[in-house]
Amino acid sequence: MSTKIKESDYIHEPLTDFSLEKNRQVFKDSLNLVESQLGKDYPLVIGGERITTNEKIVSINPANKDKIIGTVSKTNKELAEKAMQAALTAFETWKKVTPESRANILFRTASMLRHRKHEFSSYLVKEAGKPWIEADADTAEAIDFMEYYARQMMQLKDGIPVQSREEESNKFKYIPLGVGIIISPFNFPLAIMAGTTVAAIVTGNTVLLKPSNNTPVVAAKFVELMEDAGLPSGVLNYIPGSGSEVGDYLVNHPKTRFISFTGSREIGCRINERAAKVQPGQLWLKRVIAEMGGKDTIIVDAEADLDIAASSIVHSAFGFSGQKCSACSRAVIHEDVYDEVVEKVITLTKTLSIGNPADSNTYMGPVIDQKSFEKVMQYIKNGKEEGKLVTGGLGDDSKGYFIQPTIFIDVNERARLMQEEIFGPVLAICKARDFDHLLEVANNTDYGLTGALISNNHDHIERAKEEFHVGNLYFNRGCTGAIVGYHPFGGFNMSGTDSKAGGPDYLILHMQAKTISVTHL
Ligand code: NAP
Repeated sequence: MSTKIKESDYIHEPLTDFSLEKNRQVFKDSLNLVESQLGKDYPLVIGGERITTNEKIVSINPANKDKIIGTVSKTNKELAEKAMQAALTAFETWKKVTPESRANILFRTASMLRHRKHEFSSYLVKEAGKPWIEADADTAEAIDFMEYYARQMMQLKDGIPVQSREEESNKFKYIPLGVGIIISPFNFPLAIMAGTTVAAIVTGNTVLLKPSNNTPVVAAKFVELMEDAGLPSGVLNYIPGSGSEVGDYLVNHPKTRFISFTGSREIGCRINERAAKVQPGQLWLKRVIAEMGGKDTIIVDAEADLDIAASSIVHSAFGFSGQKCSACSRAVIHEDVYDEVVEKVITLTKTLSIGNPADSNTYMGPVIDQKSFEKVMQYIKNGKEEGKLVTGGLGDDSKGYFIQPTIFIDVNERARLMQEEIFGPVLAICKARDFDHLLEVANNTDYGLTGALISNNHDHIERAKEEFHVGNLYFNRGCTGAIVGYHPFGGFNMSGTDSKAGGPDYLILHMQAKTISVTHL
Protein backbone atom coordinates (compact mmCIF):
# COMPACT_ATOMS: atom_id res chain seq x y z
CA MET A 1 0.00 0.00 0.00
CA SER A 2 1.34 3.37 -1.01
CA THR A 3 1.66 5.85 1.80
CA LYS A 4 1.22 8.69 -0.64
CA ILE A 5 -2.56 8.61 -0.60
CA LYS A 6 -3.89 12.11 -0.40
CA GLU A 7 -7.33 13.25 0.63
CA SER A 8 -7.53 15.08 -2.69
CA ASP A 9 -7.33 11.73 -4.56
CA TYR A 10 -10.68 10.79 -3.16
CA ILE A 11 -13.72 10.94 -5.46
CA HIS A 12 -17.08 9.77 -4.23
CA GLU A 13 -18.76 6.69 -5.67
CA PRO A 14 -21.04 7.61 -8.60
CA LEU A 15 -24.74 6.77 -8.44
CA THR A 16 -26.24 4.34 -10.91
CA ASP A 17 -28.04 5.86 -13.88
CA PHE A 18 -31.34 4.02 -13.83
CA SER A 19 -32.57 5.83 -16.92
CA LEU A 20 -30.44 3.32 -18.87
CA GLU A 21 -32.24 0.07 -19.67
CA LYS A 22 -29.10 -2.01 -19.18
CA ASN A 23 -28.70 -0.70 -15.61
CA ARG A 24 -32.35 -1.32 -14.89
CA GLN A 25 -32.00 -4.89 -16.12
CA VAL A 26 -28.95 -5.60 -13.97
CA PHE A 27 -30.75 -4.23 -10.94
CA LYS A 28 -33.83 -6.36 -11.65
CA ASP A 29 -31.58 -9.42 -11.85
CA SER A 30 -30.12 -8.53 -8.45
CA LEU A 31 -33.57 -8.12 -6.95
CA ASN A 32 -34.43 -11.60 -8.24
CA LEU A 33 -31.21 -13.02 -6.83
CA VAL A 34 -31.92 -11.54 -3.43
CA GLU A 35 -35.55 -12.69 -3.57
CA SER A 36 -34.23 -16.24 -3.95
CA GLN A 37 -32.03 -15.78 -0.85
CA LEU A 38 -34.75 -14.51 1.49
CA GLY A 39 -35.79 -16.33 4.62
CA LYS A 40 -32.34 -17.51 5.65
CA ASP A 41 -31.25 -17.79 9.25
CA TYR A 42 -28.34 -15.59 10.38
CA PRO A 43 -26.24 -16.46 13.44
CA LEU A 44 -24.42 -14.07 15.76
CA VAL A 45 -20.71 -13.71 15.10
CA ILE A 46 -18.66 -13.57 18.29
CA GLY A 47 -14.89 -13.94 18.13
CA GLY A 48 -15.34 -15.54 14.70
CA GLU A 49 -17.67 -18.18 16.12
CA ARG A 50 -21.17 -18.53 14.60
CA ILE A 51 -23.72 -18.77 17.39
CA THR A 52 -27.34 -19.64 16.77
CA THR A 53 -29.87 -18.86 19.49
CA ASN A 54 -33.41 -20.11 19.96
CA GLU A 55 -34.79 -16.63 20.31
CA LYS A 56 -34.92 -14.80 16.97
CA ILE A 57 -35.40 -11.38 15.48
CA VAL A 58 -37.63 -11.70 12.42
CA SER A 59 -36.83 -9.14 9.75
CA ILE A 60 -39.74 -8.41 7.43
CA ASN A 61 -40.31 -6.43 4.25
CA PRO A 62 -42.08 -3.20 5.27
CA ALA A 63 -43.75 -3.04 1.84
CA ASN A 64 -45.15 -6.54 2.25
CA LYS A 65 -45.22 -7.57 5.86
CA ASP A 66 -45.91 -11.23 5.11
CA LYS A 67 -42.51 -11.55 3.47
CA ILE A 68 -39.68 -12.53 5.76
CA ILE A 69 -36.26 -11.16 4.82
CA GLY A 70 -34.48 -13.38 7.29
CA THR A 71 -34.42 -14.58 10.86
CA VAL A 72 -31.54 -13.48 13.01
CA SER A 73 -30.26 -14.90 16.26
CA LYS A 74 -30.78 -12.64 19.24
CA THR A 75 -28.08 -11.67 21.71
CA ASN A 76 -28.85 -11.83 25.43
CA LYS A 77 -26.71 -10.46 28.27
CA GLU A 78 -24.58 -13.60 28.57
CA LEU A 79 -23.76 -13.52 24.88
CA ALA A 80 -23.11 -9.78 25.04
CA GLU A 81 -20.58 -10.50 27.79
CA LYS A 82 -19.00 -13.23 25.66
CA ALA A 83 -18.75 -10.74 22.79
CA MET A 84 -17.15 -8.16 25.06
CA GLN A 85 -14.51 -10.70 26.15
CA ALA A 86 -13.84 -11.65 22.52
CA ALA A 87 -13.43 -8.00 21.56
CA LEU A 88 -11.13 -7.34 24.52
CA THR A 89 -8.93 -10.27 23.51
CA ALA A 90 -8.86 -9.25 19.85
CA PHE A 91 -7.97 -5.68 20.80
CA GLU A 92 -4.62 -6.84 22.17
CA THR A 93 -3.51 -7.91 18.69
CA TRP A 94 -5.57 -5.64 16.44
CA LYS A 95 -4.20 -2.48 18.05
CA LYS A 96 -0.70 -3.60 16.95
CA VAL A 97 -1.68 -4.21 13.31
CA THR A 98 -0.27 -1.40 11.20
CA PRO A 99 -2.61 1.38 10.07
CA GLU A 100 -1.69 0.48 6.46
CA SER A 101 -2.93 -3.10 6.92
CA ARG A 102 -6.09 -1.91 8.62
CA ALA A 103 -6.76 0.60 5.86
CA ASN A 104 -6.13 -2.11 3.28
CA ILE A 105 -8.97 -4.19 4.68
CA LEU A 106 -11.30 -1.22 4.22
CA PHE A 107 -10.11 -0.68 0.64
CA ARG A 108 -10.65 -4.38 -0.07
CA THR A 109 -14.12 -4.41 1.49
CA ALA A 110 -15.05 -1.29 -0.50
CA SER A 111 -13.90 -2.92 -3.70
CA MET A 112 -15.84 -6.11 -2.97
CA LEU A 113 -18.93 -4.10 -2.11
CA ARG A 114 -18.59 -2.19 -5.37
CA HIS A 115 -18.67 -5.52 -7.23
CA ARG A 116 -21.78 -6.59 -5.35
CA LYS A 117 -23.34 -3.16 -5.20
CA HIS A 118 -26.74 -4.02 -6.64
CA GLU A 119 -27.04 -7.12 -4.51
CA PHE A 120 -26.60 -5.08 -1.32
CA SER A 121 -28.90 -2.36 -2.65
CA SER A 122 -31.51 -5.03 -3.34
CA TYR A 123 -31.38 -6.07 0.30
CA LEU A 124 -32.01 -2.42 1.18
CA VAL A 125 -35.03 -2.35 -1.12
CA LYS A 126 -36.46 -5.45 0.52
CA GLU A 127 -35.47 -4.95 4.15
CA ALA A 128 -35.71 -1.17 4.56
CA GLY A 129 -38.31 -0.40 1.86
CA LYS A 130 -35.89 1.86 -0.02
CA PRO A 131 -36.75 2.78 -3.61
CA TRP A 132 -33.98 1.98 -6.09
CA ILE A 133 -32.25 5.34 -6.13
CA GLU A 134 -32.29 5.62 -2.35
CA ALA A 135 -30.89 2.10 -1.96
CA ASP A 136 -28.23 2.77 -4.57
CA ALA A 137 -27.20 5.96 -2.74
CA ASP A 138 -27.04 4.12 0.59
CA THR A 139 -24.66 1.51 -0.84
CA ALA A 140 -22.56 4.16 -2.58
CA GLU A 141 -22.24 6.00 0.72
CA ALA A 142 -21.05 2.83 2.46
CA ILE A 143 -18.34 2.46 -0.19
CA ASP A 144 -17.44 6.12 0.27
CA PHE A 145 -17.11 5.80 4.03
CA MET A 146 -14.69 2.90 3.67
CA GLU A 147 -12.52 4.56 1.06
CA TYR A 148 -12.56 7.92 2.78
CA TYR A 149 -11.74 6.60 6.25
CA ALA A 150 -9.02 4.33 4.88
CA ARG A 151 -7.43 7.40 3.26
CA GLN A 152 -7.88 9.45 6.41
CA MET A 153 -6.14 6.76 8.45
CA MET A 154 -3.17 6.98 6.12
CA GLN A 155 -3.07 10.72 6.75
CA LEU A 156 -3.15 10.27 10.52
CA LYS A 157 -0.97 7.20 10.94
CA ASP A 158 2.17 9.12 11.88
CA GLY A 159 0.34 11.63 14.02
CA ILE A 160 0.66 15.38 13.57
CA PRO A 161 4.06 17.13 13.63
CA VAL A 162 4.89 19.13 16.76
CA GLN A 163 7.97 21.18 17.63
CA SER A 164 11.19 19.46 18.67
CA ARG A 165 14.19 21.21 20.23
CA GLU A 166 17.91 20.65 20.17
CA GLU A 167 17.81 18.62 23.38
CA GLU A 168 14.64 16.65 22.70
CA SER A 169 12.61 14.96 19.96
CA ASN A 170 8.86 15.21 20.29
CA LYS A 171 6.09 13.20 18.71
CA PHE A 172 2.34 13.51 18.80
CA LYS A 173 0.51 10.42 17.63
CA TYR A 174 -2.86 8.78 17.83
CA ILE A 175 -3.48 5.40 19.41
CA PRO A 176 -6.69 3.33 19.56
CA LEU A 177 -9.14 3.55 22.45
CA GLY A 178 -10.29 -0.05 23.06
CA VAL A 179 -13.63 -1.77 22.65
CA GLY A 180 -16.40 0.31 21.08
CA ILE A 181 -20.13 -0.36 20.92
CA ILE A 182 -21.65 0.54 17.56
CA ILE A 183 -25.39 1.12 17.67
CA SER A 184 -26.97 1.95 14.34
CA PRO A 185 -30.42 3.02 13.07
CA PHE A 186 -32.71 1.51 10.44
CA ASN A 187 -32.72 4.39 8.00
CA PHE A 188 -29.23 4.02 6.53
CA PRO A 189 -28.89 0.35 7.38
CA LEU A 190 -25.80 -0.09 5.24
CA ALA A 191 -24.10 3.32 5.06
CA ILE A 192 -24.35 4.39 8.69
CA MET A 193 -23.95 0.88 10.07
CA ALA A 194 -20.84 0.29 7.94
CA GLY A 195 -19.44 3.81 8.26
CA THR A 196 -19.58 3.90 12.05
CA THR A 197 -18.19 0.36 12.24
CA VAL A 198 -15.22 0.81 9.92
CA ALA A 199 -14.25 4.18 11.42
CA ALA A 200 -13.80 2.41 14.75
CA ILE A 201 -11.98 -0.54 13.20
CA VAL A 202 -9.54 1.33 10.97
CA THR A 203 -8.40 3.35 13.97
CA GLY A 204 -7.38 0.12 15.74
CA ASN A 205 -10.35 -0.54 17.98
CA THR A 206 -12.45 -3.68 18.17
CA VAL A 207 -16.21 -3.43 18.07
CA LEU A 208 -19.52 -4.92 19.08
CA LEU A 209 -22.07 -4.09 16.40
CA LYS A 210 -25.71 -3.86 17.40
CA PRO A 211 -27.68 -2.97 14.27
CA SER A 212 -31.31 -1.87 14.24
CA ASN A 213 -33.76 -4.70 14.82
CA ASN A 214 -35.55 -3.58 11.67
CA THR A 215 -32.54 -4.15 9.44
CA PRO A 216 -30.26 -6.85 10.88
CA VAL A 217 -29.91 -8.90 7.68
CA VAL A 218 -28.06 -6.33 5.60
CA ALA A 219 -25.73 -5.87 8.59
CA ALA A 220 -25.10 -9.65 8.68
CA LYS A 221 -24.22 -9.54 4.97
CA PHE A 222 -21.79 -6.70 5.62
CA VAL A 223 -20.08 -8.56 8.48
CA GLU A 224 -19.57 -11.54 6.12
CA LEU A 225 -18.08 -9.17 3.55
CA MET A 226 -15.55 -7.80 6.02
CA GLU A 227 -14.56 -11.32 7.03
CA ASP A 228 -14.08 -12.19 3.35
CA ALA A 229 -11.89 -9.11 2.99
CA GLY A 230 -9.58 -10.52 5.66
CA LEU A 231 -10.71 -8.91 8.90
CA PRO A 232 -9.40 -11.08 11.76
CA SER A 233 -11.87 -12.80 14.09
CA GLY A 234 -13.01 -10.86 17.12
CA VAL A 235 -12.43 -7.41 15.63
CA LEU A 236 -16.03 -7.09 14.47
CA ASN A 237 -18.60 -8.93 16.55
CA TYR A 238 -22.16 -9.06 15.28
CA ILE A 239 -24.63 -8.96 18.15
CA PRO A 240 -28.15 -7.94 17.15
CA GLY A 241 -30.53 -7.83 20.09
CA SER A 242 -32.90 -5.71 22.06
CA GLY A 243 -31.70 -2.15 22.53
CA SER A 244 -33.04 -2.01 26.05
CA GLU A 245 -31.45 -5.33 27.10
CA VAL A 246 -28.16 -5.66 25.22
CA GLY A 247 -27.82 -1.92 24.57
CA ASP A 248 -28.16 -0.95 28.21
CA TYR A 249 -25.92 -3.81 29.34
CA LEU A 250 -23.06 -2.80 27.06
CA VAL A 251 -23.46 0.94 27.58
CA ASN A 252 -23.09 0.29 31.32
CA HIS A 253 -20.21 -2.17 30.92
CA PRO A 254 -16.99 -1.01 32.67
CA LYS A 255 -14.84 -2.29 29.78
CA THR A 256 -16.74 -0.32 27.14
CA ARG A 257 -14.36 2.42 26.07
CA PHE A 258 -16.61 4.29 23.66
CA ILE A 259 -20.09 4.19 22.18
CA SER A 260 -20.85 5.28 18.65
CA PHE A 261 -24.58 5.76 18.41
CA THR A 262 -26.79 7.00 15.62
CA GLY A 263 -30.52 7.14 16.22
CA SER A 264 -33.23 9.06 18.01
CA ARG A 265 -32.77 11.87 20.49
CA GLU A 266 -34.52 9.85 23.18
CA ILE A 267 -32.12 6.90 22.97
CA GLY A 268 -29.07 9.11 22.39
CA CYS A 269 -29.77 11.06 25.57
CA ARG A 270 -30.35 7.84 27.50
CA ILE A 271 -27.02 6.42 26.30
CA ASN A 272 -25.16 9.64 27.08
CA GLU A 273 -26.55 9.73 30.60
CA ARG A 274 -25.85 6.07 31.39
CA ALA A 275 -22.39 6.17 29.86
CA ALA A 276 -21.46 9.10 32.09
CA LYS A 277 -21.74 6.98 35.22
CA VAL A 278 -18.42 5.43 36.20
CA GLN A 279 -18.92 1.76 37.02
CA PRO A 280 -16.87 -0.26 39.55
CA GLY A 281 -13.62 -1.30 37.87
CA GLN A 282 -13.92 1.27 35.10
CA LEU A 283 -10.63 3.02 34.33
CA TRP A 284 -11.78 5.80 32.00
CA LEU A 285 -14.56 8.18 31.15
CA LYS A 286 -16.48 6.61 28.27
CA ARG A 287 -16.55 8.56 25.09
CA VAL A 288 -19.92 8.99 23.43
CA ILE A 289 -20.38 9.86 19.80
CA ALA A 290 -24.10 10.46 19.39
CA GLU A 291 -25.78 11.49 16.17
CA MET A 292 -29.44 12.06 16.86
CA GLY A 293 -32.64 13.45 15.37
CA GLY A 294 -33.48 16.53 13.37
CA LYS A 295 -36.27 18.94 12.53
CA ASP A 296 -34.79 20.31 9.36
CA THR A 297 -36.00 23.41 7.62
CA ILE A 298 -35.90 24.87 4.14
CA ILE A 299 -36.50 28.62 4.15
CA VAL A 300 -37.57 30.44 1.00
CA ASP A 301 -36.75 34.09 0.54
CA ALA A 302 -38.83 36.63 -1.41
CA GLU A 303 -36.13 36.82 -4.07
CA ALA A 304 -35.67 33.21 -5.06
CA ASP A 305 -36.03 30.71 -7.86
CA LEU A 306 -39.41 29.31 -6.89
CA ASP A 307 -39.09 26.14 -8.97
CA ILE A 308 -35.83 25.29 -7.21
CA ALA A 309 -37.60 26.05 -3.93
CA ALA A 310 -40.50 23.72 -4.67
CA SER A 311 -38.41 20.85 -5.94
CA SER A 312 -35.90 21.15 -3.06
CA ILE A 313 -38.72 21.09 -0.51
CA VAL A 314 -40.58 18.16 -2.08
CA HIS A 315 -37.59 15.89 -2.64
CA SER A 316 -36.07 16.65 0.77
CA ALA A 317 -39.43 16.10 2.46
CA PHE A 318 -40.53 12.88 0.78
CA GLY A 319 -37.34 11.08 -0.33
CA PHE A 320 -37.31 7.71 1.49
CA SER A 321 -40.73 8.60 2.93
CA GLY A 322 -39.29 11.41 5.03
CA GLN A 323 -37.24 8.92 7.06
CA LYS A 324 -33.94 10.76 6.87
CA CYS A 325 -32.52 12.64 9.83
CA SER A 326 -31.89 15.42 7.30
CA ALA A 327 -35.43 15.35 5.84
CA CYS A 328 -37.13 18.69 5.29
CA SER A 329 -40.09 18.31 7.61
CA ARG A 330 -40.81 22.03 7.64
CA ALA A 331 -40.69 24.77 5.06
CA VAL A 332 -40.85 28.44 5.98
CA ILE A 333 -41.78 30.72 3.12
CA HIS A 334 -41.69 34.48 2.75
CA GLU A 335 -45.23 35.88 2.55
CA ASP A 336 -44.57 37.55 -0.81
CA VAL A 337 -44.05 34.19 -2.53
CA TYR A 338 -45.95 31.95 -0.13
CA ASP A 339 -49.00 31.17 -2.26
CA GLU A 340 -46.98 30.53 -5.39
CA VAL A 341 -44.47 28.21 -3.69
CA VAL A 342 -47.21 26.33 -1.84
CA GLU A 343 -49.04 25.71 -5.10
CA LYS A 344 -45.90 24.46 -6.82
CA VAL A 345 -45.07 22.19 -3.86
CA ILE A 346 -48.55 20.65 -3.85
CA THR A 347 -48.55 20.16 -7.63
CA LEU A 348 -45.16 18.46 -7.59
CA THR A 349 -46.06 16.28 -4.61
CA LYS A 350 -49.14 14.99 -6.41
CA THR A 351 -46.90 13.62 -9.17
CA LEU A 352 -44.95 11.35 -6.78
CA SER A 353 -45.59 7.65 -7.23
CA ILE A 354 -46.09 5.63 -4.07
CA GLY A 355 -45.92 1.87 -3.91
CA ASN A 356 -43.68 -1.15 -3.85
CA PRO A 357 -40.05 0.05 -3.76
CA ALA A 358 -39.04 -3.00 -5.80
CA ASP A 359 -40.75 -1.37 -8.82
CA SER A 360 -38.36 0.86 -10.71
CA ASN A 361 -40.79 3.76 -11.05
CA THR A 362 -41.73 4.01 -7.37
CA TYR A 363 -40.65 7.29 -5.84
CA MET A 364 -41.82 6.58 -2.30
CA GLY A 365 -42.21 3.26 -0.50
CA PRO A 366 -43.50 2.46 2.99
CA VAL A 367 -42.41 3.61 6.43
CA ILE A 368 -40.38 1.09 8.36
CA ASP A 369 -42.81 -0.65 10.73
CA GLN A 370 -46.18 -0.68 12.50
CA LYS A 371 -44.95 1.52 15.35
CA SER A 372 -43.70 4.12 12.93
CA PHE A 373 -46.91 3.90 10.86
CA GLU A 374 -49.02 4.54 13.94
CA LYS A 375 -46.83 7.36 15.17
CA VAL A 376 -46.93 9.18 11.84
CA MET A 377 -50.70 8.67 11.45
CA GLN A 378 -51.19 10.13 14.93
CA TYR A 379 -49.21 13.22 13.92
CA ILE A 380 -51.42 13.53 10.83
CA LYS A 381 -54.56 13.24 12.97
CA ASN A 382 -53.36 15.88 15.43
CA GLY A 383 -52.01 17.98 12.58
CA LYS A 384 -55.54 18.66 11.36
CA GLU A 385 -55.93 20.89 14.42
CA GLU A 386 -52.62 22.64 13.78
CA GLY A 387 -52.77 23.43 10.08
CA LYS A 388 -54.73 22.99 6.87
CA LEU A 389 -54.30 19.59 5.22
CA VAL A 390 -53.83 20.25 1.51
CA THR A 391 -52.72 16.89 0.17
CA GLY A 392 -52.29 13.31 1.40
CA GLY A 393 -53.26 12.38 4.93
CA LEU A 394 -54.19 8.75 4.33
CA GLY A 395 -52.37 5.61 5.33
CA ASP A 396 -52.84 1.94 4.52
CA ASP A 397 -51.17 -0.76 6.58
CA SER A 398 -53.10 -3.72 5.18
CA LYS A 399 -50.13 -5.05 3.19
CA GLY A 400 -47.22 -2.75 4.03
CA TYR A 401 -46.85 0.48 5.96
CA PHE A 402 -47.84 3.02 3.31
CA ILE A 403 -48.60 6.65 4.04
CA GLN A 404 -49.36 9.27 1.41
CA PRO A 405 -47.05 12.26 1.14
CA THR A 406 -48.86 14.71 3.37
CA ILE A 407 -48.71 18.50 3.53
CA PHE A 408 -50.12 20.90 6.07
CA ILE A 409 -50.01 24.62 5.33
CA ASP A 410 -50.52 27.73 7.49
CA VAL A 411 -49.01 25.94 10.47
CA ASN A 412 -48.05 28.01 13.48
CA GLU A 413 -44.30 28.10 14.03
CA ARG A 414 -44.70 26.72 17.56
CA ALA A 415 -47.08 23.87 16.66
CA ARG A 416 -45.96 20.29 17.31
CA LEU A 417 -45.88 19.69 13.55
CA MET A 418 -43.24 22.41 13.35
CA GLN A 419 -41.26 21.33 16.41
CA GLU A 420 -41.16 17.54 16.77
CA GLU A 421 -39.36 15.01 14.63
CA ILE A 422 -42.08 12.98 12.88
CA PHE A 423 -39.83 10.79 10.72
CA GLY A 424 -42.40 10.14 8.04
CA PRO A 425 -43.77 11.73 4.86
CA VAL A 426 -45.30 14.77 6.55
CA LEU A 427 -44.39 18.35 5.66
CA ALA A 428 -45.48 21.42 7.64
CA ILE A 429 -45.43 24.80 5.90
CA CYS A 430 -45.38 28.11 7.71
CA LYS A 431 -45.50 31.72 6.48
CA ALA A 432 -42.88 34.32 7.46
CA ARG A 433 -43.21 38.12 7.46
CA ASP A 434 -39.68 38.96 6.36
CA PHE A 435 -36.14 37.60 6.26
CA ASP A 436 -35.57 38.12 10.01
CA HIS A 437 -38.66 36.05 10.68
CA LEU A 438 -37.48 33.31 8.27
CA LEU A 439 -34.25 32.98 10.24
CA GLU A 440 -36.01 33.18 13.58
CA VAL A 441 -38.29 30.26 12.72
CA ALA A 442 -35.42 28.31 11.16
CA ASN A 443 -33.61 28.41 14.52
CA ASN A 444 -36.58 27.87 16.82
CA THR A 445 -36.36 24.10 17.43
CA ASP A 446 -34.29 22.07 19.89
CA TYR A 447 -32.44 20.53 16.96
CA GLY A 448 -29.79 21.82 14.55
CA LEU A 449 -28.95 19.19 11.97
CA THR A 450 -29.51 20.44 8.41
CA GLY A 451 -31.15 23.39 6.73
CA ALA A 452 -31.28 25.22 3.44
CA LEU A 453 -31.96 28.72 2.20
CA ILE A 454 -33.39 29.30 -1.26
CA SER A 455 -32.48 32.86 -2.15
CA ASN A 456 -30.91 35.05 -4.82
CA ASN A 457 -30.16 37.79 -2.33
CA HIS A 458 -26.41 37.92 -1.68
CA ASP A 459 -26.73 39.75 1.65
CA HIS A 460 -29.28 37.28 2.93
CA ILE A 461 -27.07 34.37 1.93
CA GLU A 462 -24.17 35.92 3.83
CA ARG A 463 -26.35 36.53 6.89
CA ALA A 464 -27.67 32.98 6.84
CA LYS A 465 -24.12 31.62 6.75
CA GLU A 466 -23.61 33.27 10.15
CA GLU A 467 -27.04 33.00 11.72
CA PHE A 468 -28.74 29.80 10.47
CA HIS A 469 -27.56 27.50 13.28
CA VAL A 470 -27.31 24.00 11.83
CA GLY A 471 -24.47 21.56 11.34
CA ASN A 472 -25.08 21.22 7.58
CA LEU A 473 -26.25 24.36 5.80
CA TYR A 474 -27.03 24.40 2.10
CA PHE A 475 -27.96 27.12 -0.34
CA ASN A 476 -30.29 26.84 -3.34
CA ARG A 477 -30.67 23.10 -3.04
CA GLY A 478 -32.37 20.58 -0.76
CA CYS A 479 -31.22 19.79 2.78
CA THR A 480 -30.62 16.04 2.28
CA GLY A 481 -27.95 14.16 0.34
CA ALA A 482 -24.67 14.89 2.15
CA ILE A 483 -21.73 13.22 0.40
CA VAL A 484 -18.84 11.66 2.31
CA GLY A 485 -15.72 13.80 2.07
CA TYR A 486 -17.68 16.69 0.54
CA HIS A 487 -20.28 17.51 3.18
CA PRO A 488 -19.10 16.18 6.58
CA PHE A 489 -22.32 15.40 8.39
CA GLY A 490 -23.54 16.06 11.93
CA GLY A 491 -25.70 18.43 13.89
CA PHE A 492 -25.85 20.96 16.72
CA ASN A 493 -27.96 21.08 19.86
CA MET A 494 -30.21 18.04 20.34
CA SER A 495 -29.12 16.66 16.97
CA GLY A 496 -26.07 15.23 18.70
CA THR A 497 -22.38 15.66 19.30
CA ASP A 498 -21.71 17.14 15.84
CA SER A 499 -19.19 14.40 15.17
CA LYS A 500 -19.22 15.08 11.42
CA ALA A 501 -19.27 11.64 9.82
CA GLY A 502 -17.40 11.58 6.53
CA GLY A 503 -15.26 14.52 7.57
CA PRO A 504 -11.60 15.11 8.40
CA ASP A 505 -12.13 15.18 12.21
CA TYR A 506 -14.17 12.01 12.46
CA LEU A 507 -11.50 9.34 12.95
CA ILE A 508 -9.82 11.28 15.73
CA LEU A 509 -12.92 10.76 17.85
CA HIS A 510 -12.06 7.05 17.89
CA MET A 511 -8.49 7.54 19.13
CA GLN A 512 -6.52 9.16 21.92
CA ALA A 513 -3.47 11.28 21.36
CA LYS A 514 -0.15 10.41 22.95
CA THR A 515 2.73 12.87 23.31
CA ILE A 516 6.19 11.27 23.36
CA SER A 517 9.19 13.41 24.32
CA VAL A 518 12.68 11.91 24.19
CA THR A 519 15.48 13.87 25.85
CA HIS A 520 18.79 13.54 24.04
CA LEU A 521 21.46 12.41 26.47
P1 NAP B 1 -33.72 4.50 17.48
O1 NAP B 1 -35.06 3.96 17.73
O2 NAP B 1 -33.16 5.49 18.43
O3 NAP B 1 -32.72 3.22 17.37
C1 NAP B 1 -31.38 3.37 17.06
C2 NAP B 1 -30.61 2.20 17.61
O4 NAP B 1 -30.60 2.29 19.04
C3 NAP B 1 -31.21 0.86 17.27
O5 NAP B 1 -30.19 -0.06 16.98
C4 NAP B 1 -31.93 0.50 18.55
O6 NAP B 1 -32.14 -0.87 18.71
C5 NAP B 1 -30.95 1.01 19.57
N1 NAP B 1 -31.46 1.14 20.94
C6 NAP B 1 -32.76 1.20 21.36
N2 NAP B 1 -32.79 1.31 22.70
C7 NAP B 1 -31.51 1.31 23.15
C8 NAP B 1 -30.90 1.38 24.43
N3 NAP B 1 -31.62 1.51 25.56
N4 NAP B 1 -29.54 1.33 24.51
C9 NAP B 1 -28.81 1.23 23.40
N5 NAP B 1 -29.33 1.15 22.16
C10 NAP B 1 -30.67 1.19 22.03
O7 NAP B 1 -33.63 5.16 16.01
P2 NAP B 1 -34.17 4.61 14.62
O8 NAP B 1 -35.66 4.68 14.63
O9 NAP B 1 -33.51 3.33 14.27
O10 NAP B 1 -33.59 5.71 13.63
C11 NAP B 1 -34.22 6.93 13.41
C12 NAP B 1 -33.61 8.04 14.25
O11 NAP B 1 -32.23 8.14 13.98
C13 NAP B 1 -34.19 9.40 13.90
O12 NAP B 1 -34.36 10.13 15.08
C14 NAP B 1 -33.12 10.03 13.02
O13 NAP B 1 -33.15 11.43 13.00
C15 NAP B 1 -31.88 9.49 13.68
N6 NAP B 1 -30.74 9.52 12.76
C16 NAP B 1 -29.78 10.48 12.95
C17 NAP B 1 -28.71 10.57 12.08
C18 NAP B 1 -27.65 11.62 12.25
O14 NAP B 1 -26.60 11.52 11.61
N7 NAP B 1 -27.86 12.61 13.09
C19 NAP B 1 -28.61 9.67 11.01
C20 NAP B 1 -29.61 8.69 10.87
C21 NAP B 1 -30.66 8.63 11.75
P3 NAP B 1 -33.58 -1.55 18.44
O15 NAP B 1 -33.64 -1.77 16.99
O16 NAP B 1 -33.50 -2.77 19.25
O17 NAP B 1 -34.64 -0.60 18.94
